[in-house]
Amino acid sequence: MKVIIIGGVAGGASCAARLRRLDEAAEIIMVERGPYVSYANCGLPYHVGGVIPEEAQLLVASEAVFREQFAVDARTSCEAIAISPQRKILDLKNLKTGKITTESYDKLVLSPGAPSIRPELPGIDLPGIFHVRTVPDARQIREWLEKGTQFLSGMDRYSGFQTIRPKTRAVVVGGGFIGLEMAENLVHRDFEVTLIERGDQVLNPIDPEMAHIVEGYLERHGVRVELEDEVAEFKQTESGAIDIVTRSGSTYPADIVVLGLGVRPDTALAKMAGLEIGERGGIRVDDRMRTSEPDIFAVGDAVEVKDFVTGQWSLVALAGPANRQGRIAADVIAGRDSRFRGTQGTAIIGLFGGTAAWTGAGEKALARMGDQDFEKIYLYPNSHAGYYPGAKPIAMKVLFRKSDGRLLGAQALGEDGVDKRISALAALIQMGATVYDLEESELCYAPQFGSAKDPVNFAGMVAADVLRGDMPISHWTSMEGGVLLDVREPIELAVEQVPGVLNIPLGQLRARLDELPRDQEIHVICRSGQRAYYATRLLMQAGFKVRNVSGGMLSRTQASFFLQDEIGMERQP
Ligand SMILES: Cc1cc2nc3c(=O)[nH]c(=O)nc-3n(C[C@H](O)[C@H](O)[C@H](O)COP(=O)(O)OP(=O)(O)OC[C@H]3O[C@@H](n4cnc5c(N)ncnc54)[C@H](O)[C@@H]3O)c2cc1C
Repeated sequence: MKVIIIGGVAGGASCAARLRRLDEAAEIIMVERGPYVSYANCGLPYHVGGVIPEEAQLLVASEAVFREQFAVDARTSCEAIAISPQRKILDLKNLKTGKITTESYDKLVLSPGAPSIRPELPGIDLPGIFHVRTVPDARQIREWLEKGTQFLSGMDRYSGFQTIRPKTRAVVVGGGFIGLEMAENLVHRDFEVTLIERGDQVLNPIDPEMAHIVEGYLERHGVRVELEDEVAEFKQTESGAIDIVTRSGSTYPADIVVLGLGVRPDTALAKMAGLEIGERGGIRVDDRMRTSEPDIFAVGDAVEVKDFVTGQWSLVALAGPANRQGRIAADVIAGRDSRFRGTQGTAIIGLFGGTAAWTGAGEKALARMGDQDFEKIYLYPNSHAGYYPGAKPIAMKVLFRKSDGRLLGAQALGEDGVDKRISALAALIQMGATVYDLEESELCYAPQFGSAKDPVNFAGMVAADVLRGDMPISHWTSMEGGVLLDVREPIELAVEQVPGVLNIPLGQLRARLDELPRDQEIHVICRSGQRAYYATRLLMQAGFKVRNVSGGMLSRTQASFFLQDEIGMERQP
């Protein structure tokens, strides 16, 4: 059997290596247009920032390793330029010599990835404007940063003064995870960084009130975040810098511009071969990674797959799914019955020591689908036992089905322990877990790692309390009428309070029940929701109509993202 794989990085390389492990007899050719196979594009921003100092550290396995260890005929600088599915042949172009050869195949795997979006804006090709996808892209950025601009170049011949003005200002266009990672790394390289994002939030997959925390965090670490603005053109200035002119009329001068505008599935060859393209613009595949042509498989960023939670077609440009799909394609080619379960978009980003991670469906996505059978909770547990030094709060939002408690999605932000909570929740979502399963999950615990009630258990307990009717909740964004009762201590209210709130500290509540109305709903708040929960239970048993405002004052800060217009709240950093 002769198998040709197009694309030699995440999906392609894992397919080639797996196939060899399953079939010693197969003839495997892996072609890669670029100069390297199997490199770590996820590490590129950190190479630019200097965290990964050597380019060679990004090269996971070389062409030679594929040839020697896996007997894979790996060919770099080799581009597949045409496919004929009827004749089962394809044309390959050697990019060094220009020579075109034709190869036949029994099975073909496409893993061409998704190139960065580069809109046709005036000035987009000016020197100093980069995107980050490949090792050569990162090399070019590093060289640009290190060389300085050509400002006043030549003057040194006359004056002897330093004539190369150092580069100090960077503009990152696009607030997705690559844009944010580049922003952080440019700050580490002492740049003043401005991030311009067209939407009203960064990190589009998470919900805006969670993204709002990320934006505040970025600002606190020196990134100027400009939302709801869009680049109109790039202009060269006399000093050799670039002016980024936006639709709102603002101008941002920069010495370097990095584009992080997202990616688009590379479907050029697939279209040429007449393969079915899906509604989201990716190559349509089934759960065995087969395209509409039975002997052609496709994997990775170029394909469109089913979202495991929503059941909708989705494009997910992430390394995990690409690697798993490459492996599944190899399994199926080798005659095994492997199937891709779908994606849930589980992702994570580290920023200035903080972490944002998410999995499954967010509220925005569910609302867009018109789904109303879900509830959300906000909670702020410590990353580990509060009495052990170094515990940090985690801001969590968890979404679940109202009808059966099925876990739908989770988003978490914090400076410690975010990754393991979202990873645990992601695995549970894939197993179809309910919030009741979270209550019962047995997770590892010692004080420096977690709590006897881990944040994952805690999320399950809170959500299950809601579903069992033990703790009715309300949200700042949808509260209608009633009385707001704050059960914090007066000293806490002195720092921050909601105007007009009734304050009865939790410790006095039993003795002061007669101050509360029995004919209105009481919405109880505290700092994060814990004391309000105790108060809710107490008041419910005393016959009051009561709800705990999920997440308390902490979620109000986030809710201010929505509420600022309605109730005149300041948007808080
Ligand atoms: C800067 C950056 C940071 C990232 N960070 C993360 C992260 O932290 N976590 C995460 O999960 N994901 C991350 N990703 C995404 C992840 O790298 C991709 O999802 C993954 O690499 C996709 O694998 P793929 O095989 O589909 O495509 P790629 O890895 O992009 O490989 C496709 C290859 O195919 C080659 N090719 C295309 N057409 C042809 C042709 N006709 N002939 C020959 N070769 C061809 C291309 O040159 C390319 O090298 C990051 C991506 C980038 C760019």
